[in-house]
Amino acid sequence: VTALAPLGQQMAPYACQRRTPLLHSNQPLTEALETLAEEAGFSGSEGRSLAFTRAASVLKALPGQLSALEELGPLPGIGEHSRRVIQDVLEDGVSVEVERVKLSERYRTMKLFTKIFGVGVRTASRWYQEGIRTLVDLQERNTKLTRQQQAGLQHYEDLNTPVERGEAESIGRMVQEAVQRFLPGASVTLAGGFRRGKPRGHDVDLLLTHPEAGREAGLLSRVVSWLDSQGLILYQHSQENSFALHEGPEPPGGRDVLDRFERCFSIFRLEVQGRPGAARGWKAVRVDLVVAPVGQFPFALLGWTGSRHFERELRRFAGHERKMVLNSHTLYDTRLNLFLPAASEEEIFQHLGLEYVPPTQRNA
Ligand code: ATP
Ligand code: MN
Ligand code: MN
Repeated sequence: VTALAPLGQQMAPYACQRRTPLLHSNQPLTEALETLAEEAGFSGSEGRSLAFTRAASVLKALPGQLSALEELGPLPGIGEHSRRVIQDVLEDGVSVEVERVKLSERYRTMKLFTKIFGVGVRTASRWYQEGIRTLVDLQERNTKLTRQQQAGLQHYEDLNTPVERGEAESIGRMVQEAVQRFLPGASVTLAGGFRRGKPRGHDVDLLLTHPEAGREAGLLSRVVSWLDSQGLILYQHSQENSFALHEGPEPPGGRDVLDRFERCFSIFRLEVQGRPGAARGWKAVRVDLVVAPVGQFPFALLGWTGSRHFERELRRFAGHERKMVLNSHTLYDTRLNLFLPAASEEEIFQHLGLEYVPPTQRNA
C-alpha cells in the first residue's frame, strides 16, 4: 500500500483546471459529501456548503476508486470535516453524521419544499419555522404562494420526474420549429446538463441566437406566445434583456451569478406516448429559454452549460488568478481595462490561459 502514488498527486486546485467526467469511481463518497453540502445550504451556511461541494468535486476528478484516506495525499480543497466523512464511509460504508442528516425532519422537509419550482431555501425555511411539514399542510393552511409556486405545486410530481434526453431533444425541436416561423436562420442549442452528457436532468436549457447581431431581439416573446397559443405551455414568466455594455463590468461576486439575458422560465406540456400506468398522454417539463446576441453567445453557452460548481470555479479562477471578470455575457480584463471578445468557448479558455475543457468534462 505504501508504494502507491497518491491518487490526488497531480490534482489542480481549481475545478476548471481539471477534467471531471460524468461517471466516476467514488459515488458513495461524493453522495455523502453532497448531502452535507445540501444540508449546510439549507441552514444558510454557504461557506460550509461550498467546502463540502469542493471536496466532492475533487473526488469526482480522481482517476480511480479511493480505498484509503492516505491515498489522497495533501490534496487541495479537502478540509478536516470532509476527510472525517470520507474516512467513515471508507471504513464503515456509511457516515453516521450523513445518515442522521438524511433522517432529520428538517432536512427532509426542506428537501420536499425546495423541490417545488419557485421555492428557495429562504421560503422553505420560513414554512418550516411556521410548522408546515407537508404539501397538504401547505394547501390546507392557504399559504400564500406566488403564481410560479402554484404551478410548481400543481405539477410537483411531473417536475420531480427526471426529463429524459429524448424528451429534451423533442422539446428542442418544438422550440426550433417555432423559432423558424419568426426568424429563419436562428439557432436553438441544448445547454445545461444534457450538453455535459447527462442522460437525464431536472429541466431543459435552451439557448437561442441568430448569426446577425440584433436580429434576435423580440424573438422570444413571439416564440413563447406562439407555443402558448398551441397549448404547449402550462406556465411561463419572461424577463427582458437588462444587459447594457456601457455600464461596464459588474464587480465580481454577488449578483454576477445571475445574467441579464432576455429569458423565459417555463413549464411545457409535452406529449408522451405509452407512459405505463399514466392516465394522461402528457407530462409537465421545466424549460429555460435564453436569448443571446451572437457576440455574447460563447459566453452564454459556457455559462449555461454548467455545472454550477464548474461555473463558480471558472469565475473564481478568472478573478483571483487573472484579474478578469467573467460572466455569461463577457470577459473583462481589469488590468488592461478592456473586454476580451470570443467567437467560441475555446477562445474564452485561451483568454483565461486555461486548457480547454470540453462540456462532457465539466461535471465538477
Ligand atoms: P439539471 O440536469 O439538474 O438541470 P443543470 O446543470 O442543467 O442540471 P441547471 O440548474 O439547469 O442545472 O443550470 C444549468 C446552468 O445554467 C448552470 O450551470 C447555471 O450556471 C446556469 N443557470 C441556471 N439558472 C441560471 C440563472 N437564473 N441565471 C444564470 N445562469 C443560470
Ligand atoms: Mn438544466
Ligand atoms: Mn435550468
